[in-house]
Amino acid sequence: MGLFTSKKFETLDELLAAQIKDLYDAEHRLTEALPKMAKTAKNPELRTAFNNHLKETESQINRLEKVFSSLGVEPERESCDAMKGLISEGEEFIDADGDPDVIDAGLIAAAQRVEHYEIAGYGSARALAKQLGKQQAVSLLQETLDEEGAADKKLTEIAESYVNTAAGQA
Ligand code: FE
Ligand code: ZN
Ligand code: FE
Ligand code: FE
Repeated sequence: MGLFTSKKFETLDELLAAQIKDLYDAEHRLTEALPKMAKTAKNPELRTAFNNHLKETESQINRLEKVFSSLGVEPERESCDAMKGLISEGEEFIDADGDPDVIDAGLIAAAQRVEHYEIAGYGSARALAKQLGKQQAVSLLQETLDEEGAADKKLTEIAESYVNTAAGQA
């Protein structure tokens, strides 16, 4: 959501459409960032997790297109400044020199920020859709919300089982 653009919001329908456009942009940006994160990751499990989540992210874009169509709104990206910032924080690790285990731990920290941001975004959108009685949108948003939660949990598991330990011993 742009911070300095002044807009007019009269109805929750308009707000929901704007939120979906923001998520649509955020997911597109992630399809560009995740391959770079996967390539940087040293731990094979982490690399696989990024690659799997890339495939999920592509299907989340399709799912958002179904949400647009269920709401009768034209699919359109509205620049997500927050995701831009989260990705640029992740890129610090992509360009970094140093211990690969420490860099993996940094990639996980950045990726978990992204997942939590998405969880907040989808949770709010789902709540608005529910309020508006848009049941199909609720179900679609819930599916993605579940995937984002699972992706976050997977990253925690990887961090706890390998990366943080390895980096701590470096
Ligand atoms: Fe996503
Ligand atoms: Zn945003
Ligand atoms: Fe902060
Ligand atoms: Fe995600």
